[in-house]
Amino acid sequence: MNTTNETAYAAFLRERREELLDRIADAASRSGRTSEDVTLMAVSKTVDASKMIQAYEVGYHTFGENRPQELVRKWEASQNLDDIRIDMIGNLQRNKINKVIDKAGLIHSVSSGHLAEAISMRAASRDVTAHCLLEVNVSGEETKSGMAPNQAKRVAEQFMELPNMKLEGLMTMAPAYDASAARGSFNGLRELCEELRCSTGLPLPVLSCGMSGDFEIAVEEGSTLVRLGRVVFDPSFADAVNVR
Ligand SMILES: *Cc1c(COP(=O)(O)O)cnc(C)c1O
Repeated sequence: MNTTNETAYAAFLRERREELLDRIADAASRSGRTSEDVTLMAVSKTVDASKMIQAYEVGYHTFGENRPQELVRKWEASQNLDDIRIDMIGNLQRNKINKVIDKAGLIHSVSSGHLAEAISMRAASRDVTAHCLLEVNVSGEETKSGMAPNQAKRVAEQFMELPNMKLEGLMTMAPAYDASAARGSFNGLRELCEELRCSTGLPLPVLSCGMSGDFEIAVEEGSTLVRLGRVVFDPSFADAVNVR
């Protein structure tokens, strides 16, 4: 690619992406895997569409948004780009499902059986398949969204009865600034996913975990998709906050 006209920001995005891919590859090798086993998502929720498109141009193809309206805006801005996917990673209210149902790649934030039913209804009426992850509160912190691990077992069973729904795996957010608690929750997510594979017979290939401050730990513990925002887009993001 011709980089002579690249802006300083695009150059930053490109170099940072190379660094992140190296760090992901190192962490993946510590879990007997390669970087090919891990999707690097750029969480574009805090940047405008033009920065998202610059990120696409340096190689990102999977993006994450946490607000339905913003997902729609970014989706509209990227209609002429090939091979781009925008996932819904934030809390999804039932009255907003219609907005994103035919636009979101993967919905990471299915946090209850009721929400799964509502998504299924909207997907069926639009004749699309909703690809979903169950958001699980593995750490049990009160401030975290997501269902309890036991509830995830019930909802995963329920999923198999719901039309136009495909369960692809699990998602979690770990406690911040606490490396050992983060490792514990990623490890718990992986074990829960293994249990659900046995009980449902579904392949459940996706483990969505790891953010800017803890993604190497997540990859060591089996993450197949890291959701990175600040470390991708913010040149001033201090690596010092990365827990190890
Ligand atoms: C914002 C957000 C991220 C990215 O967080 P960073 O710490 O900026 O990497 C990941 N997942 C979810 C659900 C988010 O809302």
